[in-house]
Amino acid sequence: MVRLHHLTVLLPFTTALSRDDEAPTAKRVAIIGAGASGSSAAYHLALYANEAAIPANITVFERNSYIGGRTTTVNVWENPSFPVELGGSIFVEVNHIMVEAAKRFGLSPASHNLAAQLELPDLGVWNGQEFVLVTRQEDGWWDKAKLLWKYGAAPLWTNRLMKSAVGKFLTMYDEPVFPWKSLSEAVEKVGLLETTGVTGEQFLKANGIGDLFAQEIIQASTRVNYASNLGYIHGLETMVCMATKGAMQIKGGNWQIFASMVNASSATPHLNTTVSTISKQQDSTYHLTLQSGETSTFDEVILAAPLQYTDLTISPAPKHTPDEIPYMKLYTTLFASPHLLDPVAFNLAPGSPVPQYILTTLPPTESPVDNAGSPGFYSISIHNVFPNSHSTPPRLNYVYKIFSPARIDSSFLSKIFGREISDSETEQGAVNGTISWIHHKIWHSYPREYPRVTFEEVVLDEGLWYTSGMESFISTMETSALSGKNVARLVRDGWIGARESEKGGDLWVEEL
Ligand SMILES: Cc1cc2nc3c(=O)[nH]c(=O)nc-3n(C[C@H](O)[C@H](O)[C@H](O)COP(=O)(O)OP(=O)(O)OC[C@H]3O[C@@H](n4cnc5c(N)ncnc54)[C@H](O)[C@@H]3O)c2cc1C
Repeated sequence: MVRLHHLTVLLPFTTALSRDDEAPTAKRVAIIGAGASGSSAAYHLALYANEAAIPANITVFERNSYIGGRTTTVNVWENPSFPVELGGSIFVEVNHIMVEAAKRFGLSPASHNLAAQLELPDLGVWNGQEFVLVTRQEDGWWDKAKLLWKYGAAPLWTNRLMKSAVGKFLTMYDEPVFPWKSLSEAVEKVGLLETTGVTGEQFLKANGIGDLFAQEIIQASTRVNYASNLGYIHGLETMVCMATKGAMQIKGGNWQIFASMVNASSATPHLNTTVSTISKQQDSTYHLTLQSGETSTFDEVILAAPLQYTDLTISPAPKHTPDEIPYMKLYTTLFASPHLLDPVAFNLAPGSPVPQYILTTLPPTESPVDNAGSPGFYSISIHNVFPNSHSTPPRLNYVYKIFSPARIDSSFLSKIFGREISDSETEQGAVNGTISWIHHKIWHSYPREYPRVTFEEVVLDEGLWYTSGMESFISTMETSALSGKNVARLVRDGWIGARESEKGGDLWVEEL
């Protein structure tokens, strides 16, 4: 087909398509946020654009000084050899985007068999009064038989329920569900609306899961993963908490997956750069204004962060503005200590080992609450053992993580270690103290996952996309990455659609 110069100028305005004798102009894409969703959007859009031979010029704006957003590490004693996850820590075997990206970028999983190394039970469920369950990695058939005796067939039924929910969710990765313009419709199509529309408690009851197993095991898992009791988290997110097979993390930090994605996309990352305004123009392009006052023009804008925390002004208001929704305010405390926890603080005999992971649940007498309840925290765990070369003499330190609904104070730390810890040590650590290093962080970690059957729109306006509606459905690194990939595919489909209609337009003009 030969295109005539004067005919092509009759075509509607487009930035990517021009005459065959000119190189097509690259599509200008802005991604706001370099967390899991924004990095994945950049990575997948670059792949899709390349496959479709559509030049794309992708710019990633990130207000933090690093890539990864809620997936980031901090360094114990500020030493880069000792990184610990501060946010998103674990992904699992069925998290295909994360697992494949780790392989593609040659990132190795961290090895984990600390409990055996420390000769501690690996997990205990504490209800504020007693450990209702303690497990050891090397548990044999006799201990498993004891679990069966305690909980009957509930673990097996729960496993089946979880597999069914995960199986439905996985159909969202492929056509005909993928890519979806409406998450609400996609969730309905895959048959998960009934599961997101009820609480975990209702879902488990309706499926005949015994109360004891729900309370002692499943709730311990919803508390450590989403800081929620079963009456305040939806059924699907409850099932996500039980999908633990092949749990892993990347050696040195999961953020490397997202940094590698941005790098592989050849996008230009602008760190320490806050976008303050998105403004739609007459020609349907967008002007993005940075906090510095600089403005640039884009054809597509992908908003890859919960709108309510972006401080963005969007003008004019888009067709759909995401609702402000309640997020969990989660206190994460990381610290190092040469000491193990005091068994007496957990009503164990002096000298007994305290499990490496202490999960929590409510005691049977306590009415359901929308907070941590009487245990006062969600979990305490040992994540690593590092040599503290700053102390005199140098000695090995355990690195702990606590999830709690309030700031950890000196009386709490004094209690769990059975020794006096001062306020200043609790705030800053003291290299020779019980707390040799400490880092306090408050996160808006994830939405309160209350039951719901509708989710925020993916397309906020023509050329304006949103990834964070996904978080009310399932909030994980993987699902954010999937949401970014979904938007990338929709953007590409839009470009291809425009190209096809341009071709149609050319034909039509030529035939005249
Ligand atoms: C303590 C904690 C534990 C967790 N544990 C797990 C876990 O074990 N497994 C798991 O899978 N998930 C876990 N998660 C959840 C997971 O980390 C998140 O779901 C995921 O990282 C969210 O990615 P995102 O890209 O959607 O959002 P974010 O990571 O929040 O990324 C959004 C980015 O946008 C940037 N931004 C916002 N506004 C602007 C602006 N105006 N201009 C420029 N940049 C802007 C922000 O700085 C941020 O970097 C955990 C989260 C927390 C906090």
